[in-house]
Amino acid sequence: MKSVSEIPVRVRYAPSPTGLLNLGGARTALFNWLFAKKEGGKFILRIEDTDTERSKKEYEKNILESLRWLGIHWDEGPDIGGPFGPYRQSERLDSYEQHLKKLLSQKKAYFCFCSKEQLEAEKQAMLAQGLAAKYNGHCASLNEEEVEIRKKRGEASVIRFRVPQVEVEFHDVIRGKIKFDASLIGDVVIARDVRSPLYSFSVVIDDAAMKISHVIRGEDLLPTTPSQILLQKTFGFEEPRYAHLPLILGQDRKKLSKRYSDTSLFEYRTRGYLP
Ligand code: GLU
Repeated sequence: MKSVSEIPVRVRYAPSPTGLLNLGGARTALFNWLFAKKEGGKFILRIEDTDTERSKKEYEKNILESLRWLGIHWDEGPDIGGPFGPYRQSERLDSYEQHLKKLLSQKKAYFCFCSKEQLEAEKQAMLAQGLAAKYNGHCASLNEEEVEIRKKRGEASVIRFRVPQVEVEFHDVIRGKIKFDASLIGDVVIARDVRSPLYSFSVVIDDAAMKISHVIRGEDLLPTTPSQILLQKTFGFEEPRYAHLPLILGQDRKKLSKRYSDTSLFEYRTRGYLP
Protein backbone atom coordinates (compact mmCIF):
# COMPACT_ATOMS: atom_id res chain seq x y z
CA MET A 1 0.00 0.00 0.00
CA LYS A 2 1.25 3.50 -0.84
CA SER A 3 1.94 5.88 2.05
CA VAL A 4 -0.58 8.65 2.69
CA SER A 5 1.74 11.35 1.39
CA GLU A 6 1.97 9.60 -1.99
CA ILE A 7 -1.74 9.57 -2.76
CA PRO A 8 -3.81 12.66 -3.52
CA VAL A 9 -6.38 12.89 -0.75
CA ARG A 10 -9.94 12.61 -2.06
CA VAL A 11 -12.65 12.02 0.50
CA ARG A 12 -16.39 11.98 0.19
CA TYR A 13 -19.49 12.51 2.23
CA ALA A 14 -22.09 10.21 0.69
CA PRO A 15 -25.50 10.69 2.30
CA SER A 16 -28.62 8.84 1.27
CA PRO A 17 -31.36 11.47 0.94
CA THR A 18 -33.83 9.52 3.08
CA GLY A 19 -34.16 12.09 5.84
CA LEU A 20 -33.10 15.54 7.01
CA LEU A 21 -29.40 16.07 7.74
CA ASN A 22 -28.84 15.30 11.42
CA LEU A 23 -25.92 15.76 13.78
CA GLY A 24 -24.36 12.38 13.02
CA GLY A 25 -24.34 13.09 9.30
CA ALA A 26 -23.03 16.61 9.82
CA ARG A 27 -20.19 15.26 11.94
CA THR A 28 -19.22 12.70 9.28
CA ALA A 29 -19.21 15.49 6.69
CA LEU A 30 -17.15 17.70 9.01
CA PHE A 31 -14.47 15.06 9.62
CA ASN A 32 -14.14 14.42 5.88
CA TRP A 33 -14.00 18.13 5.10
CA LEU A 34 -11.43 18.88 7.82
CA PHE A 35 -9.24 16.00 6.69
CA ALA A 36 -9.37 17.19 3.07
CA LYS A 37 -8.47 20.74 4.15
CA LYS A 38 -5.60 19.55 6.33
CA GLU A 39 -4.14 17.37 3.58
CA GLY A 40 -4.75 19.84 0.76
CA GLY A 41 -7.11 17.30 -0.81
CA LYS A 42 -10.58 17.35 -2.29
CA PHE A 43 -13.90 16.96 -0.51
CA ILE A 44 -16.62 15.39 -2.62
CA LEU A 45 -20.35 15.32 -2.02
CA ARG A 46 -22.10 12.30 -3.50
CA ILE A 47 -25.83 11.69 -3.21
CA GLU A 48 -26.62 7.99 -2.77
CA ASP A 49 -30.21 7.82 -3.96
CA THR A 50 -30.42 4.26 -5.25
CA ASP A 51 -33.21 3.51 -2.78
CA THR A 52 -35.90 5.04 -4.96
CA GLU A 53 -38.70 4.45 -2.48
CA ARG A 54 -37.12 6.27 0.45
CA SER A 55 -35.02 8.91 -1.34
CA LYS A 56 -36.61 12.32 -1.74
CA LYS A 57 -35.52 15.48 -3.55
CA GLU A 58 -36.56 17.59 -0.56
CA TYR A 59 -34.13 15.68 1.67
CA GLU A 60 -31.33 16.16 -0.85
CA LYS A 61 -32.07 19.88 -0.85
CA ASN A 62 -32.07 19.95 2.95
CA ILE A 63 -28.71 18.15 3.11
CA LEU A 64 -27.05 20.60 0.71
CA GLU A 65 -28.55 23.64 2.43
CA SER A 66 -27.62 22.39 5.91
CA LEU A 67 -24.02 21.78 4.89
CA ARG A 68 -23.82 25.24 3.32
CA TRP A 69 -25.25 26.76 6.51
CA LEU A 70 -22.48 25.04 8.47
CA GLY A 71 -19.88 26.48 6.10
CA ILE A 72 -18.88 23.07 4.75
CA HIS A 73 -18.25 23.49 1.04
CA TRP A 74 -17.49 20.76 -1.45
CA ASP A 75 -15.06 20.74 -4.37
CA GLU A 76 -17.16 18.35 -6.47
CA GLY A 77 -20.83 17.55 -6.10
CA PRO A 78 -24.24 17.15 -7.73
CA ASP A 79 -24.87 20.89 -8.02
CA ILE A 80 -21.42 21.97 -9.23
CA GLY A 81 -20.22 18.86 -11.10
CA GLY A 82 -16.58 17.90 -11.35
CA PRO A 83 -14.24 15.61 -13.30
CA PHE A 84 -15.77 12.35 -12.03
CA GLY A 85 -19.48 13.18 -12.24
CA PRO A 86 -22.35 12.79 -12.18
CA TYR A 87 -22.42 12.86 -8.36
CA ARG A 88 -25.93 11.53 -7.92
CA GLN A 89 -26.14 7.73 -8.03
CA SER A 90 -29.48 7.69 -9.85
CA GLU A 91 -27.57 9.27 -12.78
CA ARG A 92 -24.88 6.58 -12.80
CA LEU A 93 -27.02 3.53 -13.53
CA ASP A 94 -25.21 2.71 -16.81
CA SER A 95 -21.99 2.21 -14.95
CA TYR A 96 -23.58 -0.07 -12.32
CA GLU A 97 -25.32 -2.06 -15.05
CA GLN A 98 -22.07 -2.59 -16.91
CA HIS A 99 -20.30 -3.78 -13.74
CA LEU A 100 -23.16 -6.03 -12.66
CA LYS A 101 -23.30 -7.64 -16.10
CA LYS A 102 -19.58 -8.27 -15.91
CA LEU A 103 -19.94 -10.08 -12.59
CA LEU A 104 -22.91 -12.09 -13.87
CA SER A 105 -21.10 -13.14 -17.05
CA GLN A 106 -18.08 -14.22 -15.00
CA LYS A 107 -20.40 -16.13 -12.65
CA LYS A 108 -19.16 -14.05 -9.75
CA ALA A 109 -22.75 -13.01 -9.17
CA TYR A 110 -26.01 -14.84 -9.76
CA PHE A 111 -29.78 -14.36 -9.78
CA CYS A 112 -31.60 -15.55 -6.69
CA PHE A 113 -35.33 -16.32 -6.64
CA CYS A 114 -35.72 -17.23 -2.97
CA SER A 115 -38.77 -15.65 -1.38
CA LYS A 116 -38.67 -13.50 1.74
CA GLU A 117 -40.63 -16.15 3.65
CA GLN A 118 -38.20 -18.90 2.59
CA LEU A 119 -35.20 -16.78 3.61
CA GLU A 120 -36.74 -15.88 6.95
CA ALA A 121 -37.52 -19.54 7.75
CA GLU A 122 -33.94 -20.55 6.90
CA LYS A 123 -32.57 -17.73 9.01
CA GLN A 124 -34.62 -18.79 12.04
CA ALA A 125 -33.54 -22.41 11.58
CA MET A 126 -29.87 -21.42 11.52
CA LEU A 127 -30.22 -19.17 14.55
CA ALA A 128 -32.00 -21.97 16.42
CA GLN A 129 -28.96 -24.17 15.81
CA GLY A 130 -26.70 -21.45 17.20
CA LEU A 131 -25.25 -20.70 13.75
CA ALA A 132 -24.59 -17.31 12.18
CA ALA A 133 -27.52 -16.59 9.89
CA LYS A 134 -26.44 -16.38 6.26
CA TYR A 135 -27.81 -17.22 2.84
CA ASN A 136 -27.55 -20.96 2.22
CA GLY A 137 -26.67 -20.72 -1.46
CA HIS A 138 -29.94 -22.24 -2.67
CA CYS A 139 -29.82 -20.44 -6.05
CA ALA A 140 -26.02 -20.38 -6.39
CA SER A 141 -25.91 -23.10 -9.04
CA LEU A 142 -28.98 -22.41 -11.18
CA ASN A 143 -28.09 -22.69 -14.85
CA GLU A 144 -28.73 -19.94 -17.40
CA GLU A 145 -31.75 -21.63 -19.02
CA GLU A 146 -33.41 -22.09 -15.69
CA VAL A 147 -32.81 -18.46 -14.79
CA GLU A 148 -34.25 -17.32 -18.15
CA ILE A 149 -37.36 -19.47 -17.75
CA ARG A 150 -38.04 -18.26 -14.23
CA LYS A 151 -37.52 -14.62 -15.23
CA LYS A 152 -39.87 -15.02 -18.20
CA ARG A 153 -42.43 -16.47 -15.82
CA GLY A 154 -42.16 -13.21 -13.94
CA GLU A 155 -40.66 -14.64 -10.75
CA ALA A 156 -39.15 -11.96 -8.56
CA SER A 157 -35.37 -12.10 -8.25
CA VAL A 158 -32.34 -10.28 -6.85
CA ILE A 159 -28.63 -10.45 -7.70
CA ARG A 160 -26.21 -11.92 -5.18
CA PHE A 161 -22.44 -11.57 -5.08
CA ARG A 162 -20.69 -14.94 -4.76
CA VAL A 163 -18.65 -13.98 -1.70
CA PRO A 164 -15.25 -15.71 -1.73
CA GLN A 165 -14.75 -17.83 1.41
CA VAL A 166 -11.63 -16.08 2.63
CA GLU A 167 -10.45 -14.03 5.57
CA VAL A 168 -10.67 -10.30 4.98
CA GLU A 169 -8.18 -8.21 6.86
CA PHE A 170 -7.77 -4.46 6.69
CA HIS A 171 -6.29 -1.65 8.69
CA ASP A 172 -8.81 0.85 9.96
CA VAL A 173 -7.17 4.23 10.64
CA ILE A 174 -9.19 4.59 13.86
CA ARG A 175 -9.75 1.03 15.02
CA GLY A 176 -6.54 -0.67 13.87
CA LYS A 177 -6.41 -4.19 12.43
CA ILE A 178 -9.79 -5.66 11.59
CA LYS A 179 -10.36 -9.23 10.51
CA PHE A 180 -13.53 -10.80 9.18
CA ASP A 181 -14.17 -14.40 8.22
CA ALA A 182 -16.08 -14.02 4.95
CA SER A 183 -17.40 -17.59 5.18
CA LEU A 184 -19.73 -16.23 7.87
CA ILE A 185 -21.18 -13.56 5.56
CA GLY A 186 -22.82 -15.68 2.87
CA ASP A 187 -23.63 -14.43 -0.62
CA VAL A 188 -24.91 -10.89 -0.17
CA VAL A 189 -27.59 -9.20 -2.27
CA ILE A 190 -26.01 -6.44 -4.34
CA ALA A 191 -28.87 -5.46 -6.62
CA ARG A 192 -32.55 -5.94 -7.31
CA ASP A 193 -31.71 -6.12 -11.01
CA VAL A 194 -28.98 -4.80 -13.30
CA ARG A 195 -30.36 -1.24 -13.21
CA SER A 196 -31.28 -1.28 -9.57
CA PRO A 197 -28.14 -1.72 -7.45
CA LEU A 198 -28.07 -1.62 -3.68
CA TYR A 199 -25.93 0.82 -1.74
CA SER A 200 -23.22 -1.72 -0.90
CA PHE A 201 -22.56 -2.27 -4.60
CA SER A 202 -22.83 1.26 -6.00
CA VAL A 203 -20.56 2.59 -3.25
CA VAL A 204 -17.74 0.31 -4.42
CA ILE A 205 -18.07 1.31 -8.07
CA ASP A 206 -18.24 5.01 -7.24
CA ASP A 207 -15.42 5.11 -4.70
CA ALA A 208 -13.18 3.57 -7.37
CA ALA A 209 -14.48 5.74 -10.24
CA MET A 210 -14.11 8.91 -8.15
CA LYS A 211 -10.63 7.89 -6.96
CA ILE A 212 -11.57 8.13 -3.28
CA SER A 213 -8.44 7.73 -1.15
CA HIS A 214 -10.03 7.52 2.32
CA VAL A 215 -13.48 6.34 3.30
CA ILE A 216 -14.37 8.16 6.52
CA ARG A 217 -17.81 7.14 7.77
CA GLY A 218 -19.80 6.04 10.80
CA GLU A 219 -18.97 2.69 12.34
CA ASP A 220 -22.54 1.53 11.76
CA LEU A 221 -21.28 0.82 8.23
CA LEU A 222 -18.36 -1.34 9.39
CA PRO A 223 -20.26 -4.62 8.77
CA THR A 224 -20.61 -3.64 5.10
CA THR A 225 -16.86 -3.15 4.65
CA PRO A 226 -15.70 -6.79 4.16
CA SER A 227 -18.01 -7.47 1.22
CA GLN A 228 -17.10 -4.08 -0.25
CA ILE A 229 -13.40 -4.96 -0.03
CA LEU A 230 -14.08 -8.34 -1.67
CA LEU A 231 -15.94 -6.60 -4.50
CA GLN A 232 -12.98 -4.22 -4.95
CA LYS A 233 -10.64 -7.20 -5.18
CA THR A 234 -12.93 -8.92 -7.67
CA PHE A 235 -12.89 -5.87 -9.95
CA GLY A 236 -9.20 -5.20 -9.35
CA PHE A 237 -9.90 -1.77 -7.82
CA GLU A 238 -7.46 -0.10 -5.49
CA GLU A 239 -8.59 -0.36 -1.85
CA PRO A 240 -9.21 2.99 -0.15
CA ARG A 241 -8.11 3.51 3.45
CA TYR A 242 -10.92 3.18 5.96
CA ALA A 243 -11.68 5.21 9.06
CA HIS A 244 -14.86 4.21 10.88
CA LEU A 245 -15.98 6.89 13.31
CA PRO A 246 -17.65 6.00 16.60
CA LEU A 247 -21.29 7.09 16.59
CA ILE A 248 -22.83 9.97 18.51
CA LEU A 249 -25.35 8.49 20.94
CA GLY A 250 -28.35 10.09 22.59
CA GLN A 251 -28.85 10.27 26.34
CA ASP A 252 -30.57 6.89 26.13
CA ARG A 253 -27.26 5.47 24.74
CA LYS A 254 -29.05 4.78 21.47
CA LYS A 255 -27.93 5.87 18.04
CA LEU A 256 -29.38 9.23 16.98
CA SER A 257 -31.78 8.47 14.22
CA LYS A 258 -33.54 10.52 11.64
CA ARG A 259 -36.84 9.09 12.77
CA TYR A 260 -36.66 9.15 16.54
CA SER A 261 -34.82 12.27 17.56
CA ASP A 262 -35.36 15.87 16.72
CA THR A 263 -31.80 16.42 15.69
CA SER A 264 -32.20 17.79 12.21
CA LEU A 265 -29.61 20.52 11.77
CA PHE A 266 -32.21 23.06 10.74
CA GLU A 267 -33.99 22.62 14.05
CA TYR A 268 -30.94 24.02 15.73
CA ARG A 269 -30.97 26.92 13.31
CA THR A 270 -34.64 27.51 14.07
CA ARG A 271 -33.87 27.49 17.78
CA GLY A 272 -31.27 30.21 17.22
CA TYR A 273 -28.05 28.21 17.39
CA LEU A 274 -25.18 29.54 15.30
CA PRO A 275 -23.52 27.23 12.77
N1 GLU B 1 -25.05 6.32 1.81
C1 GLU B 1 -24.65 5.74 3.06
C2 GLU B 1 -25.56 6.24 4.17
O1 GLU B 1 -26.12 7.33 4.07
C3 GLU B 1 -23.21 6.04 3.44
C4 GLU B 1 -22.25 5.44 2.53
C5 GLU B 1 -20.78 5.46 2.93
O2 GLU B 1 -20.33 6.44 3.55
O3 GLU B 1 -20.10 4.53 2.56
O4 GLU B 1 -25.69 5.57 5.16
